[in-house]
Amino acid sequence: MGLVLITHDMGVVADVADHISVMYAGRIVEEAPVHDIYARPAHPYTKALLESIPRVDVKGQQLNVIKGLPPSLTRIPPGCAFNPRCRYVQPVCRQDPPPPLYDVETGVGTGRTSACHFWQEVVGSE
Ligand code: SF4
Repeated sequence: MGLVLITHDMGVVADVADHISVMYAGRIVEEAPVHDIYARPAHPYTKALLESIPRVDVKGQQLNVIKGLPPSLTRIPPGCAFNPRCRYVQPVCRQDPPPPLYDVETGVGTGRTSACHFWQEVVGSE
């Protein structure tokens, strides 16, 4: 039996899913086996979502948030839809939408894809 779970709660996802598709502005931006995404996200939106999960072992600090708001689906920004909120943004991101999904090779799994021009930088950053 298969189950499709749609949620913003990444903590719940970790408990019940084998494979994750992360969506932003109506488009899949990253796909991967669940443990690979938690270990090394390859899209800035996925990375920001994971960083925004509250942690019981980190007290007295501000929660991480993703700045800005999601776009209206009738007015998606040109280029990459995440570019106004992305901390990895480059000029090309404001003009050229990433192709549907790049193959991601991180050495920790197979079947990984990301819709980010700069997925290598995201995977390689802390
Ligand atoms: S393509 Fe550019 S703006 Fe979009 S997620 Fe990647 S780095 Fe950020």
